[in-house]
Amino acid sequence: MAETPFLKQVIGYTNVFLIPNEAGTRYILVDVGLANDHKKVIRFLDHSGVSFEQIEVLFFTHRHYDHVQGASKLLSKIEATGAHPLVLAHTDEVPFIRDGVVDIPPSLSKLTVAQSALGNSLKHTWLGQKLLGISQVPQIQAWSGDADQLRAMGYPVKIMHTPGHTSGGLSLMVEDHVITGDVCFNFPFAPLRPLFGDDENLLRASWVAFSAKGATTLHPSHGAAFAMERLRAKHPNLPWAG
Ligand SMILES: [Zn+2]
Repeated sequence: MAETPFLKQVIGYTNVFLIPNEAGTRYILVDVGLANDHKKVIRFLDHSGVSFEQIEVLFFTHRHYDHVQGASKLLSKIEATGAHPLVLAHTDEVPFIRDGVVDIPPSLSKLTVAQSALGNSLKHTWLGQKLLGISQVPQIQAWSGDADQLRAMGYPVKIMHTPGHTSGGLSLMVEDHVITGDVCFNFPFAPLRPLFGDDENLLRASWVAFSAKGATTLHPSHGAAFAMERLRAKHPNLPWAG
């Protein structure tokens, strides 16, 4: 596998990424993990030699609590330095992240039917809010819809709208690597396909889009990176390009 053109750290069970701009002077931070994980994110920045002021963009692949819960604490620390990163998500995800609304997706696997049901029954309770709640992120802005919005800011990144896990899932392509959010998972007990999602057909179309764009390596938010070829081999009947 070729060298990865961005930094990656497992924070809890969610992967967090740092993508440098062309000059290597500023960064996009992709997802932030759970509420108490913001300290781990700060350690990741420290170890990577990246200061708060160098975080120019905080980018959310989607609205789920295990990707955004740590955002408000982290942003308050970043903003205390006088920095004001652009905070970005797909327009479908913005109301959830802005207003702190918990969304538990339907299960796509027998393994997680109970987990999804439990999350949905708990989410309006005190305990549910404690575990799953997300703080409001009023700074959130909607992606312009231009795939090259971040490229225009000096990042070698293409934004892809990849629904299926949530309607507003966004993936980031850097060279032939794609940060997929939860459009893919790669846990040993759940290889390649996510455990949750709201539309299986859209999910598959998103996988085909990765391949059509020339992706060779996929980096899910949960679990290890894997070769595009593995996904193609596992689903030979999808309309893969080439
Ligand atoms: Zn998710």
